[in-house]
Amino acid sequence: MTARVLVVDDILANVKLLEARLTAEYFEVMTAMSGPEALAMCERSAPDIILLDVMMPGMDGFEVCRRIKSNPKTLHIPVVMVTALDQSSDRVRGLEAGADDFLTKPVSDIALITRVKSLVRLKMLTDELRMRAVTGRDMGLQDGVDFTSNQLAQKGKVLVVDDRRSSYERIASTLSAEHAVELEIDPQEALFRAAENGYELVIVSLGLQNFDGLRLCSQLRSLERTRMLPILLVTEPEDNAKLLRALDIGVNDYIVRPIDKNEMLARARTQIRRKRYTDHLRDSLQQTMEMAVTDALTGLNNRRYLESHLSTLVDQAAARGKALSLLIIDIDFFKSINDTYGHDAGDDVLREFAKRIRRNVRGIDLACRYGGEEFVVVMPETDMALAYMVAERLRQRVASEPFMVAGGSKAIDVTISIGIGALEKADDTPETIIKRADQAVYLAKRTGRNRVVADAA
Ligand code: GH3
Ligand code: MG
Ligand code: MG
Repeated sequence: MTARVLVVDDILANVKLLEARLTAEYFEVMTAMSGPEALAMCERSAPDIILLDVMMPGMDGFEVCRRIKSNPKTLHIPVVMVTALDQSSDRVRGLEAGADDFLTKPVSDIALITRVKSLVRLKMLTDELRMRAVTGRDMGLQDGVDFTSNQLAQKGKVLVVDDRRSSYERIASTLSAEHAVELEIDPQEALFRAAENGYELVIVSLGLQNFDGLRLCSQLRSLERTRMLPILLVTEPEDNAKLLRALDIGVNDYIVRPIDKNEMLARARTQIRRKRYTDHLRDSLQQTMEMAVTDALTGLNNRRYLESHLSTLVDQAAARGKALSLLIIDIDFFKSINDTYGHDAGDDVLREFAKRIRRNVRGIDLACRYGGEEFVVVMPETDMALAYMVAERLRQRVASEPFMVAGGSKAIDVTISIGIGALEKADDTPETIIKRADQAVYLAKRTGRNRVVADAA
């Protein structure tokens, strides 16, 4: 893994030291020697991670961090504060300013490389998600990523796994100030609960009396349901070797005993915030993909989806020797409905019609809005005779009951014409089947409308 690291420090010797160690690990290093210079580089060169000195003349590291985290263009870049003082108040101030982590000078090699690597890995993932979300926005499918501070302010749901009373009481009482905290003393049970209950953070004590905490961490990472759940490990100062294993397994962060309350709160906050951010990106991506294949007015699938999916359905049916039929449905004199009752009433009719289609087809049938007032229903494992019955039933259910529009204040009589096409020959394609259905609708229109035509030939 390689990444661009921006090192910011007002003292040249410090810059050079970090630069040398990171370069030895094959990171690409950029440097800045003041806050303003760092901010300019952030905007211009999009680093993957920033190592930021706290004490600098003029604009200090806290301020630089705050500005990076309040700029939508840079807020996703992980910031590691590098503090000269081993003072928890400084670390906490850094995390408050939005920093993702901190390192204390003199910086140990293990801490430097593991923190940088794990944050870069996380960023690669969020970059991928952000890119797809942006693509969705560019395609006009959504407003992009609107992640409000509101979503960050709510209480988190935290599971603490610890079997030593003195330890868990301290952790729980600290976190209860900001989160809903639950406790589990049995690690096996903890795994089940984590998979079921939608936690936003799990805190695992490495010093469990009767169980290897690392085993639980590795189980949490391999289970599909908990793979993305942040894990914060509580370790003893002498646990260094185990800590390295834990970071390898994919533990997100750690805190060393004796636990500093503010540090605990700040680390929990950071993990929960990151989870919410990535969840939000994932959701909006999901939404983007759904919108891309859905018709906004009726909620049915759109033409794009039909066109990409129909050939699969036809190929499958042909290969297995199964039947497949397709209806093209066109509303009669729809233009005059618009002209008489207005465009909004026309929209009401389209929505209500989509509902009636849905009620009258099976779950495996594919119903789409094909264009304007034209709809297509693809029915796998359905031959022409059965398709005719379905079409005729739908025709009757439309014609027999008027459509209510304008908030239920007006009733409109609506009829439809339906043409059926079926898979008939070995060399049939989506196009040949649609063409037959199209000719059938045309015939239905010509011969009086409000009817089903199965065979135009
Ligand atoms: P026919 O019986 O021959 O099908 O006549 P028709 O009036 O239904 O067909 P035509 O194709 O002439 O008109 C379709 C109308 O559908 C024209 C168009 O303005 C209207 N339309 C297309 N999309 C929408 C929509 O999303 N909402 C509304 N309200 N009207 C739409
Ligand atoms: Mg029509
Ligand atoms: Mg038409």
